[in-house]
Amino acid sequence: MKTNILSAVSIAFILAALALSPRTACCGDLGFGAGFAERAAVSIGYEPGDSALCATNAGYAGWKGSDTIKEIKPFAGKFGCSLGDGNLYNVHSSMGESPWFVVTVKSKDGSLRSVCGSVGDDGSIDVSKPVDVTLSKNLDYSAVKEACGNMSYSAVGYSNTWSAGAPWHLTQGALFHNHFCPGVTSGYIIAKWLLKNAPLEAGENYNIIGLPHWCKEDSLMSALDVTPGKGGYFAMRWTDEQKKALPEDVARDIAGFFIKVKRENRAFKSAKVLVLGFDFHKDEFFEWAGENKHPELSNLQLALWAFERLDRLDYFVRLIKEIEIADEKEYERLLAPGGAPFKLVGLYK
Ligand SMILES: [Zn+2]
Repeated sequence: MKTNILSAVSIAFILAALALSPRTACCGDLGFGAGFAERAAVSIGYEPGDSALCATNAGYAGWKGSDTIKEIKPFAGKFGCSLGDGNLYNVHSSMGESPWFVVTVKSKDGSLRSVCGSVGDDGSIDVSKPVDVTLSKNLDYSAVKEACGNMSYSAVGYSNTWSAGAPWHLTQGALFHNHFCPGVTSGYIIAKWLLKNAPLEAGENYNIIGLPHWCKEDSLMSALDVTPGKGGYFAMRWTDEQKKALPEDVARDIAGFFIKVKRENRAFKSAKVLVLGFDFHKDEFFEWAGENKHPELSNLQLALWAFERLDRLDYFVRLIKEIEIADEKEYERLLAPGGAPFKLVGLYK
């Protein structure tokens, strides 16, 4: 009896505490994810056990000042999409953007069909008809654009790279970059090359100058956790004059300066600077794939072609130059505004 009274008092106390606790502004369920998932499952003819990919910018996107993270929840129950299964893609976007959703189902013959959804200004959810997104020269990209609008490139890109078994670290870079492309693939390949050929030793960390910068920077940041905020990543533009001052082969494929910096008790000790080049082998690719009348689809095919050759790192990456810097002031000149990395490592003609 005593126990029952105590239990009743405890429950009443907990209920009172819950009633008094302030409601957080976070994470209301707006119903967009659930609404889309219900209608998309019917539209695409999803059967439990089908192989599905869910991609959404919910969580990053906002909605009239609210968070949208809860809109992702229904995709686990409805389509079996989860981070751990590698089939839930959370695509980076601005919190000023509205949420969008794509569900793709892979048929037994390997073909892919997607349903896309977006949220209108009035909160209504627009759900497309299913559309074939299987990447090939014959893909009807106009039909994809009609169904998926500005989600078309995501629908085709993420669906096909997922279907082809893209490595997760590469996919993470492409999610941060907010699309798949040869550029993010090149960053991933360079990251793998670095870890293999210039691994970090005790007291070392990577600094990177992306010069010239391209889509690779985002996947390098994702793969190596080297970021501008932590002081390790620098992206620079080059001018036509600077480009002309470089030897032709260097100007053609230079990817940047990849630096192993050694410190002891935070004090600079040395820097090993590796200037790397990256060759996309576009001639060989086009010989293999032929031209696609949609250049953006050619780009996706190039990304797929490259990551099928991931075990051939030296096929893509070359060491242009390697120098050691022992003087901290000289190292700082490499990174400082107005610095001239090409000149400092002796690359000008
Ligand atoms: Zn890109």
